Amino acid sequence: MPQDTLISTLFRQEVLAMSSYHVADATGLIKLDAMENPYSWPEDLKQQWLEALRDCALNRYPDPEAKQLKHTIRSTNAIADEWEIMLGNGSDEIIQLLLMALPTGASVLSPAPGFVMYKQLSDCLGLKYIGVPLRADNFDLDLPAMLAAIAQHQPSVIFIAYPNNPTGNLFSETAIKDIISAAKGLVIIDEAYTPFADVSFIGQLGQYANVMVMRTVSKLGLAGLRLGYLVGSPALIEQLNKIRLPYNINILTQVSAEFALSNSAVFEQQTQAICADRTMMMTQLNALEGIIAYPSNANFILFRVPKDRANDIFASVKQQGVLIKNMTPQGGLLVDCLRVTVGKPEENARFLAALKNSLDK
Ligand code: PMP
Repeated sequence: MPQDTLISTLFRQEVLAMSSYHVADATGLIKLDAMENPYSWPEDLKQQWLEALRDCALNRYPDPEAKQLKHTIRSTNAIADEWEIMLGNGSDEIIQLLLMALPTGASVLSPAPGFVMYKQLSDCLGLKYIGVPLRADNFDLDLPAMLAAIAQHQPSVIFIAYPNNPTGNLFSETAIKDIISAAKGLVIIDEAYTPFADVSFIGQLGQYANVMVMRTVSKLGLAGLRLGYLVGSPALIEQLNKIRLPYNINILTQVSAEFALSNSAVFEQQTQAICADRTMMMTQLNALEGIIAYPSNANFILFRVPKDRANDIFASVKQQGVLIKNMTPQGGLLVDCLRVTVGKPEENARFLAALKNSLDK
């Protein structure tokens, strides 16, 4: 049998129709495309971390429950004992696990534009994804539209990123509560960017039977470890744990994350610097003629460029050595928009100079 026949008969239609998640090659470029923390650790902390890794038993499987790490996550995030924690290989894996547990044909809903993996993984798993457009003027939730979509599609899961990616804003808390009350299914509050926003639904978990909070250490400064976590009722987590692979958090991640979270002062300093630079960058972006930068509670800024110029400005900024993210290919409200992650001051300056240069072309 020719291999193309094998492939077309072997795999599900959903898989054949997908494109894989594209990660741009950043070799030699200033990397401001992926909401990473640009800072590394002071030398003495690196040494202590290497010491902590010395005793990792690489010949053994890691603790499948990662008990020590969960304990550290619980205490550093003020998670009450009544809630259970499930860890994932990034919060991407948690989204995948949640969706894998749903019945065939179930619906998944999120505001749009939102984090792309909600749709990507729903599509791949044969679920029905519904993206409800945000308000075009300020990217806040369109509450009537959300409530109408919930009534119509009865989604099994609603994802709400708080703050939102790629728009960077924080949705109104009362609107989120109205959505939670209207939802018959589960509402996942995705708090990937809370280190930069200082808000959380973790303290409100007790008020709702259908809410779980998802977090990640990626944006804090540990993207390379691949660690996300879901917080919610033990009964819900018990079901999800059934499909989690037993050793999904490797020993190096367990030990490194535990070490890093126990030394979180370094992240607090870095986060403060990023937030201060965000404010500065926002002002500088808005001062450029033709640019509209949207208020951000995250570590990145979405901005609009003059009509039909996003592709050429993106390419020109890249040609000048700075990689940002072109959002225009995603369509909808993101046409003419680019997104930049807040980097180190000198990186931000290089980006702003490159952007200014590109606008003047
Ligand atoms: N949620 C949101 C809103 C994100 O923007 C991202 C990453 N960009 C994730 C989840 C996934 O994070 P990770 O898999 O690195 O934990």
